[in-house]
Amino acid sequence: MATLFISDLHLCAERPALTELFLGFVKTRATQAEALYILGDFFEFWVGDDVALDDEHGPITEGLQELTGAGVPVYLAHGNRDFLLGTGYESLTGIELLPEPACIDLYGRKTLIMHGDTLCTDDTEYQQFRAMVRAQDWQQTFLAKPLAERRAIFHQYRRISMEATATKKMEIMDVNQQAVTDVMRAHGVTLLIHGHTHRPGEHHFELDGADATRLVLSDWDDGGSVLIVDRQGWRVEALPLAAATGLPKIKQG
Ligand code: MN
Repeated sequence: MATLFISDLHLCAERPALTELFLGFVKTRATQAEALYILGDFFEFWVGDDVALDDEHGPITEGLQELTGAGVPVYLAHGNRDFLLGTGYESLTGIELLPEPACIDLYGRKTLIMHGDTLCTDDTEYQQFRAMVRAQDWQQTFLAKPLAERRAIFHQYRRISMEATATKKMEIMDVNQQAVTDVMRAHGVTLLIHGHTHRPGEHHFELDGADATRLVLSDWDDGGSVLIVDRQGWRVEALPLAAATGLPKIKQG
């Protein structure tokens, strides 16, 4: 048995092949898992739980329902795109929304898991935006708006974000090492798993005299990617797309 971690799928109607890939994954590989952790940006954007069963999201919602119904615990952390996934989606699918960050016991090793956007402290412009949209009163006001208006607002945010991302330096959009060590020290862990930066990797460093590791999950831009953790250790498995489908790329953010 193994625990699976995925993130940054950015599922959306524009990339149907990716939705198919995910649905195949939840029907096969994921059913054998001890647990599945989705560490944010599962959806390209989420404007409220009332879209859960529409044409775009319904099959994905059903896929999660089947998986949790089969007894596989599914945990989901909010990303910077789908931070409005709410308790309605939780009860509909049987998944569990994670606090941020979340501490889990991974085969005896205390491990911190999160989306990772909070680690990018050098991107002050983004952190200001995040503080705004994560405030409860902003969310209440937003969710009270009609669906079409919520969609329009998110499309506008996405456009602004893509423009900003295109002009920002790469290092500004990566994690800040001090933010990494601060949060790991605060939670007393030597292993951190996150996504968000779309820069998959395994980083080793010293933390207060101990060996510390930061595992960065891959996005699903060129096919799926799963981090598999079991008692023996960890490895990454690629889930190839069936055919060259010419997926439109999703850049970081
Ligand atoms: Mn992200």
